[in-house]
Amino acid sequence: MDDCIFCKIVKKEIPASIVYEDDELMAFKDINPIDKVHLLIIPKQHIESLLTCDPIHKDILSKMLLLAPKLALEFGLKGFRTMINSGKEGGQEVFHIHFHVYGGSERLAKI
Ligand code: AMP
Ligand code: ZN
Repeated sequence: MDDCIFCKIVKKEIPASIVYEDDELMAFKDINPIDKVHLLIIPKQHIESLLTCDPIHKDILSKMLLLAPKLALEFGLKGFRTMINSGKEGGQEVFHIHFHVYGGSERLAKI
């Protein structure tokens, strides 16, 4: 997707604070964090939203989910929140699926 900001991060066309990368996934710091630690986990392939996923995406979705606790622990969190905004009415602003992983404050940031 040429006009997708997260595809541009995958292609290293725009900078991001990348904290994890493998053949299929990437994770980077959210540019506008809502907590002490706030990461975004994305697939490298362009998938619009959880609303557009079907069973062919189960492997990539499970890999994204399993990466969340791994990164949270690496960033010193003992617990964390995961958020997946889906669709415009679900608060999604970037239409390349991403899992928010955040935590670290004494009071949990809730949206
Ligand atoms: P959502 O509302 O779930 O679509 O969230 C999109 C998130 O992407 C927001 O938390 C933004 O702060 C974050 N974001 C947007 N552009 C960038 C970027 N270039 N680098 C890192 N995070 C970004
Ligand atoms: Zn994309």
